[in-house]
Amino acid sequence: MATASSPAAKERLYLFDTTLRDGAQTNGVDFTLHDKLAIAAMLDELGIDYIEGGYPGANPTDTQFFAEPRPMQAAFTAFGMTRRPGRSTSNDPGLAMLLDARADAICFVAKSWDYHVRVALETTNAENLASIRDSVGAARARGREVMLDCEHFFDGYKANPDYALACARTAYEAGARWVVLCDTNGGTLPHEIERIVGEVVKHVPGDNLGIHAHNDTEQAVANSLAAVRAGVRQIQGTLNGLGERCGNANLTSLIPTLKLKDDYAARFEIGVSDAQLKQLPAVSRKLDEMLNRAPNRHAPYVGDSAFATKAGIHASAILKDPTTYEHVSPDAVGNARKVLVSEQAGKSNVLAELEKIGIALDKDDPRVGRLLDMVKEREAAGYSYEAADASFALLAHRALDAVPDYFDVVQFDVNVEQRDNAAGERVIVSLAVVKVMIDGEMLISAAEGNGPVNALDQALRKDLGRYQKYIMGLELTDYRVRILNGGTEAVTRVTIESRDETGARWSTVGVSANVIGASFQALMDSIVYKLYRSGASAEPKP
Ligand SMILES: [Zn+2]
Repeated sequence: MATASSPAAKERLYLFDTTLRDGAQTNGVDFTLHDKLAIAAMLDELGIDYIEGGYPGANPTDTQFFAEPRPMQAAFTAFGMTRRPGRSTSNDPGLAMLLDARADAICFVAKSWDYHVRVALETTNAENLASIRDSVGAARARGREVMLDCEHFFDGYKANPDYALACARTAYEAGARWVVLCDTNGGTLPHEIERIVGEVVKHVPGDNLGIHAHNDTEQAVANSLAAVRAGVRQIQGTLNGLGERCGNANLTSLIPTLKLKDDYAARFEIGVSDAQLKQLPAVSRKLDEMLNRAPNRHAPYVGDSAFATKAGIHASAILKDPTTYEHVSPDAVGNARKVLVSEQAGKSNVLAELEKIGIALDKDDPRVGRLLDMVKEREAAGYSYEAADASFALLAHRALDAVPDYFDVVQFDVNVEQRDNAAGERVIVSLAVVKVMIDGEMLISAAEGNGPVNALDQALRKDLGRYQKYIMGLELTDYRVRILNGGTEAVTRVTIESRDETGARWSTVGVSANVIGASFQALMDSIVYKLYRSGASAEPKP
């Protein structure tokens, strides 16, 4: 029997992520299939309830993405239009594709502003309502959880409240689990959202309402919170606030607010646990890395500077009690306090990183200070270890114990040549030659590649003598280049993501004035890390 002392049940708020659909509309963002799979897995690990994958059938990437197996907790959601006006649900190829998609839920988008019904859809208000009713019914009949995005809901409500409400009510009555009120143009202000949602909940229960806010007045987060106050129980948003124009509601800011601010935390619970909340800075950075964007240092909660205090006139007070300058504990969101004069702050970062790779050291251990100095020196030169776990692990093991010298690359040579091939086509061919010394023996390998780095990688891995068996299953899964403007001359930072036959993944980094040099370092780190984690011995067999 349950005892009477259990705390009052909190209301459940549901999080819906549209990074892969609305976020993919961001200027300059072009997700590959690999990116989409990685982001979906990351969102699932974070505890998001719904992950919107995109439009199955609309483009090859999304179609392929929906065909991939995706074991996940979250409800995987397909997005698309309601049936077209004047067609039946059984005679609409777009709708059929959506209904056939391998998805747990379907999110339809429909007009809810009569002006758009007339001008954009060129149909009648009644036919638009019929399209909503039929489409929701068809998806329900196929066993899907159904949502309906009411496009331009708030502008539509201002122009014709009865019609906007009729759209919402029609979807609800047809069996939609969620009716999502969209501020599609992003111009609505928080007090308007609160007032209008307050009217809508008189017609559709708040437990069945969602909010989809855009950030065109920098208030998408505030608008989402205003909608929750007025009764909605689903919030749509994106990681790092990606999205068309100025972006969508930023889940990276919303999640900590819902978890840590009393007004919300005391009333609501979300699918993100306290432990998952601590992953947020890593998730945010990982997305930036994928997009090859510099992370926003000043991002609330997760940014590098979110808990950085520059010790000026308040130096001694900050050092005595940093919490007096913090609205929440940085630890709660997986971030770290940075008091910029304090050596201690750097040390705790290094200790935290060491802990991640299974090394426990006392903070007063002199080796921690030495490692910190090395990290600082290398970061000043352009290295970044936040997204290069394997390179950090090698650096740490080299400083603390030892990493064997498995082999030595004595020389490499990379040639890029433009020439005509046998078919008379102009092609660019890269050829790499690598000389590797293993146990006093020189091995020479050559390989062609579709680019200089690929050729170098192929040559390097062609013959590693007795280490070959360890690297057979090693695969490069991602390669990113960033030009850093450090001081007077630019340096290049290369980050490589690798995977092995066990499914383990790691990332390595290299920095050089030369892109090949930086790539070589990152490739070497990846191979050496693989040998190290496989327990390869540097001692030649007797
Ligand atoms: Zn949108």
